[in-house]
Amino acid sequence: MATERPLWEILLDCKKSEKLRCSECFQLMEYLAETAARAQDEEKARDLFLKHISCCPDCRDYCANRLEEYVEVEGKRISSRQSSTG
Ligand SMILES: [Zn+2]
Repeated sequence: MATERPLWEILLDCKKSEKLRCSECFQLMEYLAETAARAQDEEKARDLFLKHISCCPDCRDYCANRLEEYVEVEGKRISSRQSSTG
C-alpha cells in the first residue's frame, strides 16, 4: 500500500532523486503553482516536475488546468528575465 509523503519530504528528496511518483507530482504541482511567482530555490523541484509531466500523460492531463495558471506565471518570469541583463 502506497503511503503519501508530506510535501517537505518530497522537496527534500527531489534534490537527490530523479523521478517522481504521480502522487508526488500532484503535490509538487500544487506547491509550484502556489509558489511559482516567488520560488527562486525550487528549480530542482520544477525540473523534476516538468520532467515527470513530459513523460507522464496522466499527470499532464490532470495538471492541465493548474498548468495553465502555472505556465502563465512562469511565462511572466521568463519574459521579465529576458528583459533584464545579467
Ligand atoms: Zn505521473
